[in-house]
Amino acid sequence: MMNIIPISIPTPFYVGDVNIYLIKEDPITLIDVGPKTDTAAKALREKLARNGVQFSDIRRIVLTHAHEDHCGLAKRVRDEAKDAQILVHDWETGHLFGRLAQENNKRLLLRSGVPNAVFEQMRALYGEISLLTDSLEDGGFNLLEDEMELEFAGGSLKVLHTPGHTPGSCSFVREANRTLICGDCVLKRITPNPIVSPDPIDPNKRFPSLAEYLVSLAKLRSYSPTLAYGGHGESVTDFDEIFNRYVRAIDERQRRVISIVLNRGSTAFEIAQVLFSRSFDTDVHRFLAISEAIAHLDYAETGGKLTVELKDGVEVYRKQ
Ligand SMILES: [Zn+2]
Ligand SMILES: [Zn+2]
Repeated sequence: MMNIIPISIPTPFYVGDVNIYLIKEDPITLIDVGPKTDTAAKALREKLARNGVQFSDIRRIVLTHAHEDHCGLAKRVRDEAKDAQILVHDWETGHLFGRLAQENNKRLLLRSGVPNAVFEQMRALYGEISLLTDSLEDGGFNLLEDEMELEFAGGSLKVLHTPGHTPGSCSFVREANRTLICGDCVLKRITPNPIVSPDPIDPNKRFPSLAEYLVSLAKLRSYSPTLAYGGHGESVTDFDEIFNRYVRAIDERQRRVISIVLNRGSTAFEIAQVLFSRSFDTDVHRFLAISEAIAHLDYAETGGKLTVELKDGVEVYRKQ
């Protein structure tokens, strides 16, 4: 029996606490660590101590993805644990140096119709959020690969590359009892956002986040999980129920997005404002709203339901 201990850590984000997982087996491993705040560091230290573990005992830090609420403390814990190893997927490393700070992201957002002034506000906000993580230096981490086994004295966890929420999101399956640890890929109460990202293979393009996400969900389901530990909220015991709910919600949102595309054409920025009219102007929601609109418009375009053309450097979607 592998000893997987869920630990919840406070974050300053709207989403609330983040779940991280202590695997109390040799080598002692943390899956995610929490944001870089003093409150989170203190909570992590105390909750590990309650389980008889100190930072210095940790040998391996595995990241489901590089969002600040999950990865922020990785460097601090690693430095204190001396020779602990950090593992993260290669497609995630772009995130480690600031999403909106990258010119590629700026290009993607402006192409989606985000006005320059709005982009600058988003960048300023992101500047604050990025303080909640330490960047990892080149060579300061090892790479997670799909199907790789993380070995423990009492068994192993298989790495599953499950892109969608971010390009390098990974999940972990304990096949012996069909238990998953899946970061923000599957959350009990919220349908995870596919976050807009440059394509890791061709940064001039966008990563097809929603299409990839649906493939990842099916991949997770193929393991017939009996228990799925997510990055926020309670664990999931009825994977099929949540799978069906997600697919239905995505399908409904697809239809809604297509229905609000105007005859004269609409940009992702305009669609996001209609979709999330109530929460659009509040800080981080705006980035999530735009991500969601882009993900759905891309998916509808790939599925032949919308067309897209570039007009003065901005993508305009139209109904077929
Ligand atoms: Zn996330
Ligand atoms: Zn999260």
